[in-house]
Amino acid sequence: MLLGFKTELRLNNEQRIVLAKHAGTARHAYNQGLALTKQVLDWNTTHPEDKIKFPTAIDLHKWYVASIKSANPWIYEVSKCAGQYALKALRDGWDRCFKKISKPPKFKKKGQRDAFRLDGTIKILGVNHLQLPVIGVLRTFENLPQSFKPKSVTISRQSDKWFVSFNLEVEPTQTEKTNLSVGVDLGVKHFATLSNGQVFDVPALYKRLKVKIAKLQYVNRHKVIGSQGYKDFQAKVARLHYRLFCARKDFLNKLTTYLAKTFQVVCIENLNVSGMLKFGRLAGAVAMLGFYEFRRQLAYKCKLYGSRLSVIGRWEPSSKLHHKCGWKHETLKLSDRIFYCPECDESIDRDLNASLNIERIGLSLSS
Ligand SMILES: [Zn+2]
Repeated sequence: MLLGFKTELRLNNEQRIVLAKHAGTARHAYNQGLALTKQVLDWNTTHPEDKIKFPTAIDLHKWYVASIKSANPWIYEVSKCAGQYALKALRDGWDRCFKKISKPPKFKKKGQRDAFRLDGTIKILGVNHLQLPVIGVLRTFENLPQSFKPKSVTISRQSDKWFVSFNLEVEPTQTEKTNLSVGVDLGVKHFATLSNGQVFDVPALYKRLKVKIAKLQYVNRHKVIGSQGYKDFQAKVARLHYRLFCARKDFLNKLTTYLAKTFQVVCIENLNVSGMLKFGRLAGAVAMLGFYEFRRQLAYKCKLYGSRLSVIGRWEPSSKLHHKCGWKHETLKLSDRIFYCPECDESIDRDLNASLNIERIGLSLSS
């Protein structure tokens, strides 16, 4: 089974510059190649009797080395893969266009989907270091898969963050499932409430770190920007943020592994922007980060451990129905922690009721 693995790089400024140069070279090669291929197509439309062969990826690379690279010495500073893969991507783009699968390739602008691909001697060193040709050793925040050699990696930028991604060949392991199914309700009060009654809260350490960061920011709010005191304060905040990041990652890792290994079917709600409103704007924005990561990890772990992930649509009123009889509580507010059903004369924790509904609906969906 091929798993896409993507994780954020932890870079210093020099490394950022090197990566930006590679992405710039890839973009430059792509745009140069696109200009040439467009000229070829234009020529062929206007000169049907004297058509030129449309260049292959290899033709494009030969032309690039001979005419473009020699005229732009800065290209030699970066790995040759950057340009080569960009041209291959361009040719693939044209193929998809000729087959009418997608629109013609477009010129790339700086800062939009900056990315490049590398191959060659790629090694994972230690738990979170990655050795790449030309670029050298890069660190990642997250631990990397061990005893594995990626053939090629893609490095990309999203706003000011850089990511590395590669395909990972893994053998799915069918774990002995002790339970049939579970519904998981995500929330702000409790991170996850399971339909078997288990509740998972974000670790106390997480909340303590957040309070610490907020206090530090308040106390230092008058520090002069650029002063030594300001720099020390910033470094402290950055370290705390990193610990916060690790604490969250660790928590989500344990929870998703437990779910994927224990249950045959894991049912969750689809999370999206309107789902966020369910929790109120501010808390929602913060919580959503964790929810997306939860979903991402759960999805690949379910594949890895042979369980089924069932995602129910947001239009399913999982929190408003009584899980036993389906009576609809029209006026249930966010602050109501207890769900009371007059039909059954029964009170139940609202999150538990929601998770039971999620399980019921999730199981009714075909795989
Ligand atoms: Zn009822």
